[in-house]
Amino acid sequence: MPKRKKVFPCGHKGFSQSCHLCQQRDIQRQQHLAELGIKKEEKQAWLATFAEDVVDFPSRL
Ligand SMILES: [Zn+2]
Repeated sequence: MPKRKKVFPCGHKGFSQSCHLCQQRDIQRQQHLAELGIKKEEKQAWLATFAEDVVDFPSRL
């Protein structure tokens, strides 16, 4: 007899106890947020250096 797929509250179907699709999505989302956090820090650091550089440029020509 084939296993019956169960429908999870999220709407996905699968054989496991919980939805592996949503688990993967959550992991990817956390990784994405982590990457965004790193990029945000890098961007802020980059903006900080840029702001320092801007001071050296004449605001009016
Ligand atoms: Zn799901």
